[in-house]
Amino acid sequence: MGLVVIDPGHGGEERGATGAHGLLEKDVNLNIALKVEQYLLRLGIETALTRTEDQQVSLAERVSLSSDLEADAFVSIHCNSVSDPTVHGAETWVPNTANPRRYGPSQALGYIVHQHLLVTCNARNRGLKYKEQEGEEFYVLRYTLVPACLVEVEFLSHPEGEVRLGSEWFREKAALGIAEGIRRFLEIPAWKGGG
Ligand SMILES: [Zn+2]
Repeated sequence: MGLVVIDPGHGGEERGATGAHGLLEKDVNLNIALKVEQYLLRLGIETALTRTEDQQVSLAERVSLSSDLEADAFVSIHCNSVSDPTVHGAETWVPNTANPRRYGPSQALGYIVHQHLLVTCNARNRGLKYKEQEGEEFYVLRYTLVPACLVEVEFLSHPEGEVRLGSEWFREKAALGIAEGIRRFLEIPAWKGGG
């Protein structure tokens, strides 16, 4: 039914964002990714993770895994952070329009995953986004050749967001939304086979 690469952002020395109460983004990303994998396996969707423990993985390795496996989709999982602690909500990033062949399928993937995430997490919608300038793109979105999106589940810099990201319940909800979105994406015949 498809093969999906799940990419838990950061790891090892690269901790990503840190909440005011010490919650580390790299740990949340990995935990949600492992839960996504469990949901996908139950749905009969093959998965590969770019890391399965707290280890450092280069961005190039993350990208090449999805190419080597000729994956049907690449989904990177992150938590957001800004200096303003009142900002919260979910946002999902896709590659920019410079590559129409890749942008279309990625936009579909990102949109569907994002919509399901909003529902299961009851999150504020910060929208589907892409960087106008190619040089500003997230590395994994710029170089991944298969349909790709990067999910910023919630803000670690928001006090309530950190509480939610720290809870099993919320992580399950986030994983369910992401997995359900991936499943729906794979059901669109046109995108199957690496779009
Ligand atoms: Zn991150």
